[in-house]
Amino acid sequence: MTDSYEIVDHEYDVVVVGAGGAGLRATLGAAQAGLKTACVTKVFPTRSHTVAAQGGISAALGNMSEDDWRWHMYDTVKGSDWLGDQDAIEYLCKNAPAAVYELEHWGVPFSRTEEGKIYQRAFGGMTKNYGEGQVQRTCAAADRTGHAILHTLYGQAVKNNAKFFIEHFALDLIMSDEGECRGLLSWELDTGIIHRFSAKMVVLATGGYGRVYFSCTSAHTCTGDGNAMVLRAGLPLQDMEFVQFHPTGIYGAGVLITEGSRGEGGYLTNSEGERFMERYAPSAKDLASRDVVSRSMTIEIREGRGVGPNKDHIHLNLNHLDPKVLAARLPGISESAKIFAGVDVTKEPIPVLPTVHYNMGGIPTNYHGEVVTKRGDDTDAVVPGLMAIGEAACVSVHGANRLGSNSLIDLVVFGRAAGLRCGEVVKSDGANADLPKAATDEALARLDKFRHAKGGTPTAALRAQMQSVMQNNCAVFRTGDVLEEGREKINEVHSAMPDIGVTDRSLIWNTDLVETLEFDNMIGQAIVTMEGAANRKESRGAHAREDFPDRDDANWMKHTAAWFAQGKATIDYRPVHNFTLTDEIKYIEPKKRVY
Ligand SMILES: Cc1cc2nc3c(=O)[nH]c(=O)nc-3n(C[C@H](O)[C@H](O)[C@H](O)COP(=O)(O)OP(=O)(O)OC[C@H]3O[C@@H](n4cnc5c(N)ncnc54)[C@H](O)[C@@H]3O)c2cc1C
Repeated sequence: MTDSYEIVDHEYDVVVVGAGGAGLRATLGAAQAGLKTACVTKVFPTRSHTVAAQGGISAALGNMSEDDWRWHMYDTVKGSDWLGDQDAIEYLCKNAPAAVYELEHWGVPFSRTEEGKIYQRAFGGMTKNYGEGQVQRTCAAADRTGHAILHTLYGQAVKNNAKFFIEHFALDLIMSDEGECRGLLSWELDTGIIHRFSAKMVVLATGGYGRVYFSCTSAHTCTGDGNAMVLRAGLPLQDMEFVQFHPTGIYGAGVLITEGSRGEGGYLTNSEGERFMERYAPSAKDLASRDVVSRSMTIEIREGRGVGPNKDHIHLNLNHLDPKVLAARLPGISESAKIFAGVDVTKEPIPVLPTVHYNMGGIPTNYHGEVVTKRGDDTDAVVPGLMAIGEAACVSVHGANRLGSNSLIDLVVFGRAAGLRCGEVVKSDGANADLPKAATDEALARLDKFRHAKGGTPTAALRAQMQSVMQNNCAVFRTGDVLEEGREKINEVHSAMPDIGVTDRSLIWNTDLVETLEFDNMIGQAIVTMEGAANRKESRGAHAREDFPDRDDANWMKHTAAWFAQGKATIDYRPVHNFTLTDEIKYIEPKKRVY
């Protein structure tokens, strides 16, 4: 197999896969640590999904009123519905302000207050004094924060001599028989050449897998390729049943309208013109956390109070806001509303619907970014040579539900942590370990199988089936029956894979083959997501079971770890870290779930 492809070999200390906010921050950190660093990415770095992040990045800077990282930690633990690891959350919130200042000094053009400080807006679930009232904690560059961060980080990484391999599709990890990661293979899309990277550390920063669903806010490239490589390497993914729906995707298109729009004073109404969030969350109202708002909207629609001819969506009102504020603080979403819904936000409400937005689950790691697995009694066993960061990872700081603006800060804090850890554990003077030949053969056999697939079912047809099953059977509200049906249906999609047909056999910009590899990556994740959801018999964060409406800490305050082999998922558990790193803050005890 190896002989039928042209292979070019490379040797690096660190290879980062992914050039979103997380990947770029880690690439920069490893390069600054003096390590020979490469970044492999399937899209041009500044086209990564991070570019689309609108609302902002959280950090307790206290620019608008008093703030404290401990309050941020409390909110994040509460938002996670006590599934987040508190040591990691402490690390995140404590290091957040320094990470934001670092971005500022590198050139991120943040919006400013009158006194010239970084502007911060209100976001859902962000409170002062341990839940007493709203705080403005989300730092913003208008509503194009991700764009500003990504461009700045790319410039800095290039300046620090990181080597980029752009439009390279990473195929698989190269693992040793002892379970150590030694490198990876990529397919260079415009030459057809296979590149084999030997590395002392591989950092996966491949983003989320929103495209497993029919309607999502994420880019078409968000197919969770790194997660799938981890499953194929015989390692587990964690908490995949927790999928966040954002309350305000534009009806029909799925394009995001940032939560920052409600942070600036926007509110939701039903067909009676009622501000219904006042009923569901009397104090936080429209800024209750995303799971609460999405469920409330779904209930309104189900009970017949949706808007539009089919009463199947909700209105988001911004037209009472000063047009100058809309132009200065929310220019991007004003444009999106015009393009995708034909709405002038200064005059009319925007039609919106809860839409898949974020994957809390992913590759389990510790707070250094090192991938962990359960091995015997050791539930925190580090996988040598492998790290994961960003949306691909499950550190876990977001637990069962992520607070808005906590992802961008997760990218830079843990991207930085991974760079620092590489500096500590990777020795640039030693030789790289040998690459087992079998790993290359296996990865190329998979590529070859799909490249020459001659079945009768186009990839697009199977993908559409998968997306519809996930959308219908694993959505905002879940029940045992619906999930059982979902398990059967998603397995049917998987069993149809041997009949897949690819029409283009070339290796040059073969998008048919790229989409097939991505689909193969997604179907495994779809299955572990569905299995995890059917298995977890409680409601927690984004996982709302109508047949088990309560959170059950006695039985379910634990992480799901799911393996996937030969079409079947196997489930085990890892304990939630119920301790902190320092005595600056104590373990935050579980509180009752707010519905
Ligand atoms: C529309 C939208 C708005 C958002 N707004 C906010 C916000 O305001 N605040 C906030 O905190 N969060 C926000 N989020 C969430 C946040 O933006 C994402 O979670 C985050 O940007 C993910 O970053 P990442 O670095 O993990 O991955 P991405 O930015 O998704 O990058 C993934 C990278 O991996 C590479 N890659 C993937 N597969 C392969 C492969 N097979 N081979 C090679 N390379 C590969 C890609 O090329 C890309 O460079 C938003 C998300 C969306 C979708």
